Amino acid sequence: MKYIDEFRNKNQILNLADLIRKSVTRNYAFMEVCGGHTAAIHRFGIPFLLPDNVRLISGPGCPVCVTGTDFLDKAIAYSKMKKIIICTFGDLLRVPGAVSSLEKEKAAGADIRIVLSGLDALEIARMNPENKIIFLGIGFETTAPGTAATILQAEKENSENFFLLSAHKVMPPAMEAIIKDGVSIDGFICPGHVATITGSSIFDFIPESFNLGCVVAGFEPTDLLQSILMLIRQVNQNDPKVEIQYNRAVTLKGNSIAQKLMSEVFEPCDATWRGFGIIPFSGLMLRKNFERFDIEKEVPMRINLQEDNELCICGKILRGLKTPGDCPLFADICFPENPLGACMVSVEGACNTWYRYKLIK
Ligand code: SF4
Repeated sequence: MKYIDEFRNKNQILNLADLIRKSVTRNYAFMEVCGGHTAAIHRFGIPFLLPDNVRLISGPGCPVCVTGTDFLDKAIAYSKMKKIIICTFGDLLRVPGAVSSLEKEKAAGADIRIVLSGLDALEIARMNPENKIIFLGIGFETTAPGTAATILQAEKENSENFFLLSAHKVMPPAMEAIIKDGVSIDGFICPGHVATITGSSIFDFIPESFNLGCVVAGFEPTDLLQSILMLIRQVNQNDPKVEIQYNRAVTLKGNSIAQKLMSEVFEPCDATWRGFGIIPFSGLMLRKNFERFDIEKEVPMRINLQEDNELCICGKILRGLKTPGDCPLFADICFPENPLGACMVSVEGACNTWYRYKLIK
């Protein structure tokens, strides 16, 4: 409760909202990159505390949302093979692939299990030595160290039936792609969990090369309002830089142990992001030393690339070009119980968040 009192204190929230109102001198648009921030912003009603000339735009930080249809189609194809068990985080289950979903395949009899970590999947591998276990590795710098630790453990145990299908990604190349896309923003509310691992310095290129401000933010209402105020002050003073608001978790250099795990196991590769296509060096693939755990090396898989549902504008939402309210299917045909696109599935997805909190601003 003390934690909640400290960061959800009504007087502090109203004071910060008042300071923001007194600080605005123009229109401002800031992108919250992280899906956790999108969810927190709308859960706490932050847009309703802001003046009309401060706009928040959702970005590409929901790991389930940016995972491409090609990855899902591959996972679905593997799930149809004999003696394969797919282990996945729960959210991925309901994301539509080109013609099916993991949820539909599970209902049709495929052995697909929900896990909370790679280590859970490794345990399933120990218990089922006659099967190949495929862990679907998704997420950014936040989840990649856990997958790396799992691979190292699998190697230590000399596991012969644990494999990874990796869609792990890193955030800075996507932020650069957004800027180069020409989205009109004045700065980024930078992802707090990613920065806990990487340190805030990974965002230095943004003010240095693109003259845009960055504030690494926490996830409580006072965190978010304070971060917005810090960004407004950067804009007003024409002084873009990287600042850490979430200083109870984030440092300049981050978590060196987690970084070491990641760099020992993974190397950068090009990766497909929903809505963006291929972004160079934005993915993580297993290094040569560990490629025996790569399911695509063990059982090569070819799929026919298919176009995403052309009515779904998830891709444009993830690039900050549209909002869920721009989608004609939103809340009419597409809703959390019947998601037509990835952004309606995850609780961090922009469409799901808008639906749950009935966002009208
Ligand atoms: S409301 Fe549904 S169909 Fe529309 S963009 Fe969002 S997920 Fe896609």
